[in-house]
Amino acid sequence: MDQIVIKGLQIFANHGVYKEEQEKGQTFVVNATLHFDTSKAGRTDELSDSVDYGKICELIKDFMTQYHMNLLETIANRLARKILMAYPEIEAVTLEIEKPEAPIPMKFENVSVKIHRSWHTAFIAFGSNMGDRLSYINDAIANLKADMRCEVKKVSKFVESRPYGEVEQDNFYNGVLELRTLLEPKELLEFLQAEERHAGRVRKEHWGPRTLDLDILYFDDMVIENDDLTIPHVDMQHRDFVLVPLSEIAPYKRHPLIGLTSKEMLRKLKDSYVTRK
Ligand code: ADP
Ligand code: MG
Repeated sequence: MDQIVIKGLQIFANHGVYKEEQEKGQTFVVNATLHFDTSKAGRTDELSDSVDYGKICELIKDFMTQYHMNLLETIANRLARKILMAYPEIEAVTLEIEKPEAPIPMKFENVSVKIHRSWHTAFIAFGSNMGDRLSYINDAIANLKADMRCEVKKVSKFVESRPYGEVEQDNFYNGVLELRTLLEPKELLEFLQAEERHAGRVRKEHWGPRTLDLDILYFDDMVIENDDLTIPHVDMQHRDFVLVPLSEIAPYKRHPLIGLTSKEMLRKLKDSYVTRK
C-alpha cells in the first residue's frame, strides 16, 4: 500500500518516568508512516481526497503536549489509535517515538519505540434464544456501532433455527456481521464477552439457552489457538446457521485453514446431510 511519511517531527513535551523529565521536559522526535491508498488523490489532485499531513502533525503535537505519559510505549499505542480513529481512510500506521535526550548516563545516539497498528476485518456470529431475542442482538450491534474503535460494515439477515446440541430450548435467531476494528483479537473477545454479560447471559450449560452469544469466526486471515480463543472458530464449518448468513455477506471469503469459501463450505455441509440421510 502507498505511504505518506512524516519524518523527524520534533515536539517538546514532558513525558517520562522521572520527576526531572516531567518538570523540565525534553525533545521527542516522531516518525509516522501512514499506509493509505493515494490513487484517488493522484487522479483528482484534491487535498480532500488525501490525508492532510499538516493536520496530522498538529494532531500529533496536540496529543503529545496535552497529556502526560510515563512510557514511550503508551504514547505510541495511544497515538496510533488516535490517528486511525480520526482518519478511518488510513489503513495502518507505523509510528516511531524517539527520545534522543533520554536520561541514560552513557553515550548513546538514540532510543525509540516503534509500533505498527492497523484496522482489522473480523466476522462475528451472533445468536440468541432466550427472552427478547431480537433486542439483545440489536443492542449488541448498536453498541459495536457506537464504539469508535469499531465500524460495522455489513450485517446479514437474521435466520431462525432450531437449537444445536441436546438441551431442550427455544428457537435461535442467528446471523453474522462484518466488523472493521482497531481492537486486537483478545480485546475483541473481551469486548464481546462484556456485551454477553450486559445482556444478562449466565454460562450454565454448554450449548444451553443464552440471551446472547457472540463468537469470532475470522480475524483477518489469522490463525490463533490458545486456551480461551480459537480463530477461525473451530466449529463454524459444521453450522448452517453460521454458513448461511456468512455466505450472504461474504460468499467468497476463504477459510484460511480449510481453504474453502463460505459458499463452498455451505455446499459441502448440505451434501453431508444428504449423504447421512
Ligand atoms: P459456544 O459459543 O461454543 O456455544 P460459549 O459462548 O459458552 O460457547 O464460549 C465458551 C468459550 O469459548 C469462551 O469462554 C471463549 O473464551 C471461548 N472461545 C474460543 N474461541 C472463541 C471464538 N473464536 N469466539 C468466541 N469465543 C471463543
Ligand atoms: Mg460463544
